[in-house]
Amino acid sequence: MRIDIITLFPEMFAPVLGDSIIGRAQKSGAVEIHTHQLRDFAFDKHRRVDDSPYGGGMGMLMKAEPIALCFEAICEETGKRPHFIYMSPQGKTLRQQRLRELAAEQENICILCGHYEGVDQRLLDSFIDEEISIGDYVLTGGEIPAMVFADALCRMVPGVLTNNECFTEESHFNGLLEYPQYTKPAEWRGMEVPQVLLSGHHQNIDKWRREMSLEVTRKKRPDLLES
Ligand code: SAM
Repeated sequence: MRIDIITLFPEMFAPVLGDSIIGRAQKSGAVEIHTHQLRDFAFDKHRRVDDSPYGGGMGMLMKAEPIALCFEAICEETGKRPHFIYMSPQGKTLRQQRLRELAAEQENICILCGHYEGVDQRLLDSFIDEEISIGDYVLTGGEIPAMVFADALCRMVPGVLTNNECFTEESHFNGLLEYPQYTKPAEWRGMEVPQVLLSGHHQNIDKWRREMSLEVTRKKRPDLLES
């Protein structure tokens, strides 16, 4: 999986995606993450990436042409047209199911991080395949949403986690929340680990986990059971 990120702040990404599990996945070659400085594609007299909105109003808008040129350069470099996603508070809210589909279907993904008041609509209409939101609130820029999206997507790519069970057993993969987990010691401040987990009986442990998963979901997120 190759992810290209178009941004005005490429230096924000390495401290987050260059470390820990995603950092190791990049070193092993399981995923490639490339950031692109949008300003490098502003070729007009003043090398501007933003301008004021027609009709007036607050703030500035990102211009269409530098984004188009940057995306076209990525297409040329990779020899493919990546699935082009715009991180936007107006997009569909990100769900695990969509991440599963994208991890299975797409080899190349390009993410556009907006800034200021957003992006010229003509660029969105003619280049963007999908808008994705990380929730119903507005951030100052698309960089944090892009990191959230890239992290959640990369961990589903084969070879990034030790094995697929690491994510298939987790909350949201099958529409439920995960069962409670415990580690040593078996008794901590008077509280004991459920006996079944110490029994070594795998069938009983699986059954207990399935039941607890349902119970936790019912308690914390009953809406998931309804949907
Ligand atoms: N004027 C835009 C609107 O009302 O829809 C909001 C622009 S926001 C201040 C600047 C940028 O942050 C957006 O272009 C987008 O890339 C990013 N952004 C903000 N909130 C987001 C969210 N909830 N999910 C994904 N991206 C978001």
